[in-house]
Amino acid sequence: MHSNELNSYKQPKTLADWQLALWETNVEKGWHTLKRTPLEMHALITTEIAEATEAVREGIPAIHLGDNNKPEGEAIELADAVIRIMNYFTEMNWDLDFCLELKNNYNKTRERLHGKRM
Ligand SMILES: [Mg+2]
Repeated sequence: MHSNELNSYKQPKTLADWQLALWETNVEKGWHTLKRTPLEMHALITTEIAEATEAVREGIPAIHLGDNNKPEGEAIELADAVIRIMNYFTEMNWDLDFCLELKNNYNKTRERLHGKRM
């Protein structure tokens, strides 16, 4: 991927802006019409993470353009997982911002390495 292509995506966006933008694309492409169960959604999210693992195993760059300028690589597949998670939050009407705050605040109260010896 050329550096000017990477830099073209540096517009400031909040989490809520991203959630809306991703949902609009989801609707535009018709994915929102497929009603999936929580287990199906979790499997789809896991699949994106498996694709990231496969990209690492293949030794391909984390961010690059493949055939037909399709973004590929570990970072892109992890972004796919984030997209699926954010769209799922929108569909379920869950407040991602609130959940991140809640969990981060809890994590801050936990012991170093959550009390585990590594
Ligand atoms: Mg993918």
